[in-house]
Amino acid sequence: MSKKTIRDIDWHGKCAFVRADFNVPFVHGSGVISDDTRIQEAIPTIEYLLENGASIILCSHLGRPNGRIDEGLRLKPIAERLATLLDKEIRYTSDEENQTLNISSIRQGEVVLLENIRFSPQEETNDGPFAMSLAKMADVFVNDAFGTAHRAHASTEGIAHHVTAVAGLLMEKELSFLGAVLNDPKRPLAALFGGAKVSDKIQILDRLLGHADNILVGGGMAATFLHAQGANVGASLLENEMVDFCVNLLNKAHEVGTHIHVPVDVLTADKIEANVETTIANVTDIPASSMILDIGPATANNYVRILSSMNTVVWNGPMGVFEVPPFDTGTKKIANHLSMSHAVTVIGGGSTSEAVTHLGLETCMSHVSTGGGASLEFLEGKVLPGVAALDDI
Ligand code: AMP
Repeated sequence: MSKKTIRDIDWHGKCAFVRADFNVPFVHGSGVISDDTRIQEAIPTIEYLLENGASIILCSHLGRPNGRIDEGLRLKPIAERLATLLDKEIRYTSDEENQTLNISSIRQGEVVLLENIRFSPQEETNDGPFAMSLAKMADVFVNDAFGTAHRAHASTEGIAHHVTAVAGLLMEKELSFLGAVLNDPKRPLAALFGGAKVSDKIQILDRLLGHADNILVGGGMAATFLHAQGANVGASLLENEMVDFCVNLLNKAHEVGTHIHVPVDVLTADKIEANVETTIANVTDIPASSMILDIGPATANNYVRILSSMNTVVWNGPMGVFEVPPFDTGTKKIANHLSMSHAVTVIGGGSTSEAVTHLGLETCMSHVSTGGGASLEFLEGKVLPGVAALDDI
């Protein structure tokens, strides 16, 4: 990685301003965190800094308060969970202190958590003086919030221009796994795409065409690819404006040495409901009233066979409507296979990581990204502002 990390700093007696991503989900309508993965992922950086003699100011957003104080989006539950995970007292600050915390008031080894940074309207506008006031709180800025690195906000980008700025250990891990997919993958490389729409994945498909040895298509987006090949896709989600893009991609693939695989069979139903009547249909024979809601068993077997001979697999987008059984069957089969694979397995954030985590397989993958939009943009080849602003080695 070409960026400095926390390993490049002598921390003794220094104060770190750590931008983390504690944007965790809550059990609806309660203050109970339903999945604390993002908090746990920040622990290695915090522990490294403490072990090396630093004091820490932690900063994160939670939800979308739109620059106003929202009582339901305070970081108190995060402070409590951090205190449990670190077995350490966490000083949780008030809104006013978010801009005025004085570095000299923080003791060595102390951990302070600022209030939700998006309560301040200047955060998302990347206001210069606001970014400067954050920078003044500490000696070094540490960005460990990969999930927000695609946003140029005051605490992710602006601050880095006013103080020494380095990557945390989670950021380093994300950039190393995702960077290897683009720059130096162990070949052969397969990219597995699913999710709802082709239009969300145009740029990543473009970027990986000619780079991946195999592209495997599933999810709702398979319908547009199948239509582009002349199939009748019944009542499936079809993006007419994306048909030409799919035709071009399929034609170009032959020239650039990427094999694009589309389903040979699909699981269909007339509505998206648990335990509704379903049909496994050959793609040449999809019932007119039905929607494609998952890949079929022959396709899943075919994809597993292809993936078995890969040395790197990157996966973005579930194979079907995984939230509603039995349309989770294809996603489960692929996830189970990857969990036992010898290949480097890189799982994109967002719905794909949700599906893998729901199956309890996250620790069996080489890397599960904590950033949905950020991992997609990174793999599209875009420069993430929160990464670009960090100090070069
Ligand atoms: P994405 O965020 O683009 O990865 O899309 C994830 C969403 O795609 C999930 O909520 C899935 O339910 C949805 N999805 C996957 N397969 C299909 C399908 N065949 N039809 C409609 N939606 C789908």
